[in-house]
Amino acid sequence: MGKFTLGFLILNFMLSICANSILNQGTRYMNVIEARQLAKHVTTSEGDLAILQSVDFTLNAGEVVAIVGPSGSGKSTLLALLAGLDSASSGQMDLLGAALHTLDEDGRAAVRAGQVGFVFQSFQLLPGLTAVENVMLPLELAGAADARERAAEQLQKVGLGERQHHLPSQLSGGEQQRVAVARAFVVEPKVLFADEPTGNLDRASGDMIVELMFSMRAERGCALVLVTHDQRLAERCDRVLTMDGGVLQ
Ligand code: ADP
Ligand code: MG
Repeated sequence: MGKFTLGFLILNFMLSICANSILNQGTRYMNVIEARQLAKHVTTSEGDLAILQSVDFTLNAGEVVAIVGPSGSGKSTLLALLAGLDSASSGQMDLLGAALHTLDEDGRAAVRAGQVGFVFQSFQLLPGLTAVENVMLPLELAGAADARERAAEQLQKVGLGERQHHLPSQLSGGEQQRVAVARAFVVEPKVLFADEPTGNLDRASGDMIVELMFSMRAERGCALVLVTHDQRLAERCDRVLTMDGGVLQ
């Protein structure tokens, strides 16, 4: 083998190592969530209670995953950990490249701001704020200058353009959840978390929320983790995981 060929081979080898490390870097950020051996314990008057045990979970960019399982099995607790709303007792939890287990509440809030949306079963709108003010909140937290215009536009998209200045108490359950969906999507999140979003709604309102959530998600291509009791809804997801007694299968 001539000197030139050997040099060429070495150069090629080094280039392939470089390319590989760049690619690996890329795939590292492909994961929206990477949770390893997550556990959650709480101290009660009866002693230590294990709510979640040894949860491993990976969510890819744009993926839609359903979590099903009996009431009390730990679904809401897990969602709160994955979204950075609560901290685990042990384990590692990366959300959008940030190591949440190393951050305090303020640090986790900074990761969530502008990147993460939530829809809860009980809507969780602030009762003293109008619909548009509720939708503006996450934009203001993320420091957006045009919060009111963007919030109004988002309310239009969920069919509540005429109800902007109404308080939550002046809206039906389905309408309140539409405000919550607008609030979740207004920041253009990379990942949306929904905890039984149709659990407090009648069938028709629930169906409308589901269609809105799925179409708004598809438009943006963001990832979705959805806790649901509704088998039809679970079937529309890319993957269905089951929570049982604090263990995810
Ligand atoms: P799911 O959403 O599947 O219904 P949860 O995550 O809400 O389940 O709760 C799982 C279990 O943990 C339940 O038994 C619940 O009572 C218990 N639990 C959750 N949070 C706490 C807490 N802060 N203190 C004590 N028990 C809790
Ligand atoms: Mg729950």
